[in-house]
Amino acid sequence: METVSQNGTSDPEPRQLALLGATGSIGTQTLEVVRLFPDRFDVRVLTCRQNVERLAKQVQEFRPACVAVGSAERAEAFERVLPADAPDVRVLVGTEGLCEAATWPGVDVVMGAVVGFAGLRPVLRALEAGTQVALANKETLVVGGPLVAQVLDEGNGELIPVDSEHSAIFQCLAGESERSVEDLVLTASGGPFWNRPAETFSDITVEEALDHPNWSMGAKITTDSATMMNKGLEVIEAKWLFDVPVDRIQVLVHPQSIVHSMVSFADGAVKAQLGVPDMKVPIQYALSQPARWPAPHERLDWDELSRLDFERPNLDKFPCLQLAYDALEAGGTAPAILNAANEAAVGRFLDEQMGFLGIPRAIERALGQVPVQADPTLDDLVAADAEARGLVEELPLPASNSTER
Ligand code: NAD
Ligand code: MG
Repeated sequence: METVSQNGTSDPEPRQLALLGATGSIGTQTLEVVRLFPDRFDVRVLTCRQNVERLAKQVQEFRPACVAVGSAERAEAFERVLPADAPDVRVLVGTEGLCEAATWPGVDVVMGAVVGFAGLRPVLRALEAGTQVALANKETLVVGGPLVAQVLDEGNGELIPVDSEHSAIFQCLAGESERSVEDLVLTASGGPFWNRPAETFSDITVEEALDHPNWSMGAKITTDSATMMNKGLEVIEAKWLFDVPVDRIQVLVHPQSIVHSMVSFADGAVKAQLGVPDMKVPIQYALSQPARWPAPHERLDWDELSRLDFERPNLDKFPCLQLAYDALEAGGTAPAILNAANEAAVGRFLDEQMGFLGIPRAIERALGQVPVQADPTLDDLVAADAEARGLVEELPLPASNSTER
């Protein structure tokens, strides 16, 4: 809906935004974008799992109608840290609370920035309600791709990619016919260990894995970038977002992270989207598209940029990428098993209970042991997730940190 302002120009009504995962890396950067365009957004909902101190500050600044937090204990903590003179806000709790928040009345766009499988249900509910979802939470598509596709088919919901590679492809596809697309080319930074000798991977520390060369992100996705599972998850994400078979989704390592991804077309032309690695750009585009809003994000400096390199990924050194291709091919609950085993293994790696090489081993084990079921329902996916997660969480601790990594 448009209104005509006093100076005669037409201003859009502010978009009513529900931000799921508000306290995380994507969540806080989304709020930075909102700060740049205060008249274009009305923040109605903010959610987090645990960090109620940060959430309370966000509530004071953005005055949402509703928040959702992970547990009753966190809800009490939120009430305690919220100053007495803070605006009135409804507090919802747990998975059901998150789903209610995702379908809050009047919301035009949901930003899905929860990390992991926990993001699936609220995104499905928002799409079922016919809402537009800007999706950062790739695990939702990895686990529930077919369910999401079905909901999109049957209803009025809409999915807009936020992940930088998928945003790049979305931008390259604008104005093109589906039939003329030959290949999607996802670029990957290669993470911090692209050039590190494989023999030293058993010594990789959490601190080293969290030191990403180009992007500043949450701990889970940063670890996924180090194992290159992130690119595996993104191949699956691309398959569901763009409905392209996996043999037409290529991965190229591009250490500078300037080309965010590419599409090659039937006539031999290739379109790429480039920019400084800054998630605020794809976040903003997901919220403004098809328009582009002038913004002061950092520009590419052509005097600084001397070269762009591209290399095929090394699947022996980074087996997680191959495991993701295998799970996608197996179909059914296999990607849910892959994802859950990865989430659990990354959690244990970050807690220093598992070595870096334990991550692909744990996933391989889960994929080998948990039976794969075809055409899963949401309940089947939840069960497969729990089984794979349980299996990895119960793997014995290594005898010492220097062996059995
Ligand atoms: P993060 O860990 O920084 O933040 C996660 C957010 O989700 C937090 O607000 C947290 O409170 C909430 N959350 C975590 N577990 C939850 C649960 N079980 N239930 C409800 N809420 C929960 O993560 P992030 O880096 O912002 O990533 C968010 C998603 O976006 C991930 O799926 C990630 O793969 C994707 N993504 C992130 C980036 C990036 O630059 N950070 C880039 C592309 C895609
Ligand atoms: Mg990405």
